[in-house]
Amino acid sequence: MKLFDAHCHLQDPRIISKAPQLISSAVASGVSAFAVNGVSEKDWNLVKEMGVKYPSVVPCFGIHPWYVAERSPQWFETLKSLFETTPSAAVGEIGLDKGSKGREIDFSDQVGVFRQQLELAKELNKPASIHCVRAFGDLLEITKSVGPFPAGLILHSYLGSAEMVPEFAKLGAYFSFSGFLMSMSEKKAKKMLKAVPSDRILLETDSPDALPKSESGTLYFVEGDPSLLPEEGNSSQDLESNASSGGSMKLPKETLNHPANIHTVLEYVARLLDMKNEELAELSYTNAVQLFSYSGSKLLLERGAADVSGHTQNHSTTPS
Ligand SMILES: [Zn+2]
Repeated sequence: MKLFDAHCHLQDPRIISKAPQLISSAVASGVSAFAVNGVSEKDWNLVKEMGVKYPSVVPCFGIHPWYVAERSPQWFETLKSLFETTPSAAVGEIGLDKGSKGREIDFSDQVGVFRQQLELAKELNKPASIHCVRAFGDLLEITKSVGPFPAGLILHSYLGSAEMVPEFAKLGAYFSFSGFLMSMSEKKAKKMLKAVPSDRILLETDSPDALPKSESGTLYFVEGDPSLLPEEGNSSQDLESNASSGGSMKLPKETLNHPANIHTVLEYVARLLDMKNEELAELSYTNAVQLFSYSGSKLLLERGAADVSGHTQNHSTTPS
């Protein structure tokens, strides 16, 4: 089984020192690519270096709405020059946030920075990974005015309504699901998932955030996670038994999410969609390869070499 983590943050300061082990154990579990999203000017170089170091890492550059206020005057010039020196990169993480944390950031600033990055993604013909919290109306309005997006958009950790799915899909959006989906009621999540066109489904971890709840009783924990109890943190294996289904061990609140936990996301989404794990793995993998095969992408090399042949390079923007 092959999986593609369509959105994560392996450069995050909470896990950067563990990144080599996290990547190798996730790769060993079947994850063959990671779209690693920068969030502010401070981490772009780190993301760029990871892209150079790991063939499995697709670097993505962007300013996340939470970091809009701390941008430098030359942020946009820096961003543009990064895409010139790193043609394998995509755009992200960008977005809009009216949630508890996002409310601290001036919304018109968020919109301005988001729009500029969205227009750049469109101009460069690259997909853009989008964060949206309680601002789906604004997001639809802005994407409609800038779009359509032949190179695709990724609505990451999508928690919007089923009703909005066709509207975003028409503009070129893909819908990416993480452990955050478990915060939605199953009934609502099912309805929304069933509205997503099958060629637009992606899976992600958003690691180190969005730790899923395990249904099978198995989660990967980040070794040395300061939030873990000492006996869990000392294991030489990343794979630990999550006793949440057994009931005795109380999980600490801030446990970091390991990128190999995409398997748990896969199981959950597959169950809600009444699909086999293997079937959803293959579908979401093919969709991700399709999306990330823009000009300059590392995926084009893989495609030329191996198993994902048979797809055309260009996206069709025709609404399905
Ligand atoms: Zn993210």
